[in-house]
Amino acid sequence: MLYRKQDDYDAFKCIAGSCPKSCCIGWQIVIDDDSLDNYAQIAKKQAIAMKNKNLSTISDESDSTSFEYKILEGVDFEEGCFRQNGRRCSMLNPDNLCSLQIELGEDNLCTTCKQYPRHIEEFQDIREYSLSLSCPEAIHMLLTRTTPLNFIECEDDTEDDPEEFEDYDFMLFDRLEYARDILYKIACSSIIPFQTRLDLIVEAAARLQICYDEGELFEMDDIVSEYSDLIASGTNISAGHLSSLNIPSYSSESMQDLYEYNLDALKLLLRLEMLEDDWSRTITNTISYIQSDITNFKNVLDTTDNKDKSFACQQILVSLLFTYFCGSVYDGQIYARACICTQSVRFMMMIYSAYTPNSHSHNNDLNIELLSKVVYLYSREIEHSDINMNEIIDWFSSQI
Ligand code: SF4
Repeated sequence: MLYRKQDDYDAFKCIAGSCPKSCCIGWQIVIDDDSLDNYAQIAKKQAIAMKNKNLSTISDESDSTSFEYKILEGVDFEEGCFRQNGRRCSMLNPDNLCSLQIELGEDNLCTTCKQYPRHIEEFQDIREYSLSLSCPEAIHMLLTRTTPLNFIECEDDTEDDPEEFEDYDFMLFDRLEYARDILYKIACSSIIPFQTRLDLIVEAAARLQICYDEGELFEMDDIVSEYSDLIASGTNISAGHLSSLNIPSYSSESMQDLYEYNLDALKLLLRLEMLEDDWSRTITNTISYIQSDITNFKNVLDTTDNKDKSFACQQILVSLLFTYFCGSVYDGQIYARACICTQSVRFMMMIYSAYTPNSHSHNNDLNIELLSKVVYLYSREIEHSDINMNEIIDWFSSQI
């Protein structure tokens, strides 16, 4: 098995009570079967104790504050999830710390709580580990590091059961891995304006998608090599270079078209499933801000004199490419998955700018805290909803 991790994966440490957006608030946490059995044993003890005391409901102060009682009342054993008090997980104490972890230790957390924000993508004989951008501490780590996000690998003799990967297409995966390596290089090529990097990635993905749809897998390597050469040449790729590639897509169209495309994309976000009401207001405000003047949109895209902003966006883009791009081995959505990465960064830039409407000056410092907030809120609303992700994939795939 090959294990590939983002290089700071093991350095992650939950900041618990200091977290500005705890993962224990706002989400329904599903409990795996083993943990549910474990919690059922604890609840059973409490139920027996109550029965012995002849209590059907708790009035005794010591019982009602006991940890066992918390489990009995706080776990929905039928639905297999934690109950919520308002939007707070019932295990969360007033200091925003997990009572379950305090009482039983981390080993007894359910799988969801133990893993989050660690995210694992599974490919045959390969596991890829990343930190979810929906966690404030994970995005803070990403945006405050000074080195480009990188990945480390190690191997052992473990192998997957091939029966579990019956339809797995090794040939396609090899090509996607190769393509993703070049997409990282495009994403990190600081001599190319950041928006052009996004355009190049979209263009490359569109061409790869066409090859895939036509069953021309070997052609995919030629396309990727073309972009690899382009990056290796060190050319500062201009709009002229892009049009010389003769690739039809929105990147070669006018700013007006790009503007309208992005407004449509923002309106798509409004039609998606929403976790929090505030999110709807955030998107509505962003649409108003972008719609009010095309100059606002141009300023969003312009990172030429703001290296910090460009670098932050690059880090987010690479993280998203790592998480999403190779998943197209399962659904064939090469173009849509690349667009999720590039357009998510544009969405974040637009939302960030709408929060800071007076910060167009190129020399303005990047507000890392605010950008982090935009990223984790976006990630919670979009990435953690299968319904939303599928809707976005459909929207992009309908464009090619
Ligand atoms: S969101 Fe991240 S930092 Fe915050 S409580 Fe959850 S794991 Fe910890």
